[in-house]
Amino acid sequence: MPDANDAAYRERLTALQFEVTRRKGTERPFDNEYWDCHTPGVYHCVCCGAALFDSETKYESGTGWPSFSQPVTAEAVRTESDSSHGMVRVGVLCSQCEAHLGHVFRDGPQPTGLRYCMNSASLKLEPREEA
Ligand code: FE
Repeated sequence: MPDANDAAYRERLTALQFEVTRRKGTERPFDNEYWDCHTPGVYHCVCCGAALFDSETKYESGTGWPSFSQPVTAEAVRTESDSSHGMVRVGVLCSQCEAHLGHVFRDGPQPTGLRYCMNSASLKLEPREEA
């Protein structure tokens, strides 16, 4: 059944942004906008604009995807079990609009020990004004 919401997102998003956020797709590693980005700022949801991750918690995971040790607030994202592609993983979604963002793994840096492995296509960086 066609979803009116989907049609609106299809118009506003690029094909890749749509595939990732509304179809739980995954972009290619080392070939996406933010994996090697070091600009200070806040990463927002590409679908609804909610603030999701701060560059202060971004770190070099070596995976080729932008990786963070925590979201801006515990409420900014929610998680769900994802058993697609023959793996059991924990999917991460925008709390506000249900956009699929990526997955979270328990091999991140201390103190959280978490690795939020995100798709650049689900995010939009708003650079911080440097004083
Ligand atoms: Fe959102």
